[in-house]
Amino acid sequence: MNNTRIKKVVIAGGGTAGWMAAALISKSLGRGVELTLVESDAIPTVGVGEATIPPIINFHKVLDLGEKEFLSRVNGTFKLGISFEGWHDLGKDYVHSFGFAGKSNWAAEFHHFWVGAKKRGIDVSQYGDYCAEHLAARMKKFAVVPKNGVNYAYHLDAGLYAKFLREVSEKYGAVRKEGTIAKVNLDQDDGSIKSILLESGETVEGDLFVDCTGFRALLIGEALGTGYDDWSHWLPCNSAVAAQTELTAPPLPYTRSIARPFGWQWRIPLQNRAGNGLVFSSDYLSDEDAKTFLAENVDGKLLTDPRVIKFTTGSRKVHWKKNCVAIGLSSGFLEPLESTSIHLIQRSITRLVQLFPSNGIKQSQVDEFNQQCRDEIESIRDFIILHYHVTDRDDSDFWRYCRTMDVPDSLSHRIKLFKETGKIFKKDLDLFAEESWVQVMMGQGLMPDAYHPVVDTMADDSLGEFLKDTLMSTKQKVERLPEHHEFIEYYCKST
Ligand code: FAD
Repeated sequence: MNNTRIKKVVIAGGGTAGWMAAALISKSLGRGVELTLVESDAIPTVGVGEATIPPIINFHKVLDLGEKEFLSRVNGTFKLGISFEGWHDLGKDYVHSFGFAGKSNWAAEFHHFWVGAKKRGIDVSQYGDYCAEHLAARMKKFAVVPKNGVNYAYHLDAGLYAKFLREVSEKYGAVRKEGTIAKVNLDQDDGSIKSILLESGETVEGDLFVDCTGFRALLIGEALGTGYDDWSHWLPCNSAVAAQTELTAPPLPYTRSIARPFGWQWRIPLQNRAGNGLVFSSDYLSDEDAKTFLAENVDGKLLTDPRVIKFTTGSRKVHWKKNCVAIGLSSGFLEPLESTSIHLIQRSITRLVQLFPSNGIKQSQVDEFNQQCRDEIESIRDFIILHYHVTDRDDSDFWRYCRTMDVPDSLSHRIKLFKETGKIFKKDLDLFAEESWVQVMMGQGLMPDAYHPVVDTMADDSLGEFLKDTLMSTKQKVERLPEHHEFIEYYCKST
């Protein structure tokens, strides 16, 4: 496609996506590239994005970031999963945790033994009780235990995280340039991006451009005209209102997601405050009513005025076009129901570094990148739709739409297979493993009609004993843990 050696990399935008990209590219490619990040002090970042999932721990390991320092810098707390409240039906809650419920065998996962026992009339506890992360979340306990601990992620302050990553990036040689992009200059011959022109009149040239300009998508969208697949018919929420509040209790070790008649509300506890928001569909609620609803349904005093954010759920048709790679909100958006956006940023940067076109951009690299991004985001899209579609809620037009809408064939197949056989299979680029799908499917009220026959090789008393032992060992593991807030205090002080 192009044999120009890629030496100068320009990142446009300095939100979470821009600085995560700058940190990983500068750390991994070092002085092999000249990295410039352009961000505008006049254009704020989206300013939300505070819940993460476990793979972020690996991202920090690659960057050599100390966990204690990171937590202190971002007012971070630990996250064991998400409490989905009122999603299955009003008054019915479950936790999608980062853990595994119990032992599997090669043919059948743990839930087959649980479902089998239940169907055979053996006394069982709630499915989630067999999972340490679930139980620890409910008991508000947590500790980082190096071996055989609980699986976790973080809640963080997005603004502080970007600042922290800026320091890391600059340490590894990235150069920050402040300025507002006024124009993107294209090459007359091949239509690729030649440079960006700042309002100051300065021109920033590059060989490869990373578009991290957020929803504006100045490079990939505006300049290169890359289209967007709109998935609003499956995920009708298109607005959010966000505000910060004081903490009224010690921070919980999980995110709360509370289903509402027109969407859902999040609550994310940090060390010093809570992040709150309402994700809703403007077909069912006005912006003004959303602000009022949020203000009336938070626990602590508001620290910021409720702020409305508009979005269109979907994906750029391609995330890499010519010499421009879109990362973050410029590449697409899935609502933060499963905290997947920061993870998608991490995946795209990792993929870009793995496929880095040092010797010129080849079409095979671009195609591979785009295919992987597409497979990954579509699988997450299906997982999010599942939460809305498989529900007993019938108390509002919003929920009636969601439960009766058509869903993608890929999801419909998964739902049917699980209902009929209890089986779920993880595909190559699926982010969520079988256990996550099972927790959400059963949490939303989808019980399999069948279980694997291997379960029936066990007599009732052995099956009962197996479940009891699993429950006991989970309880013993969790009861040893300290309270989450006590652990944070101790851990951050011991930096
Ligand atoms: P932005 O933060 O918008 O940054 C854009 C950057 O581009 C800024 O630095 C801006 O100055 C710069 N810029 C724009 N135009 C110009 C210009 N003309 N010249 C120069 N610079 C320019 N993700 C999660 O993983 N977990 C969550 O819990 C979560 N919650 C969310 C809740 C909501 C309501 C929303 C909308 C998103 C949420 N996300 C969440 C997604 C997350 O916020 C984003 O993925 C993340 O912040 C990355 O944003 P960004 O860096 O792509 O864009």
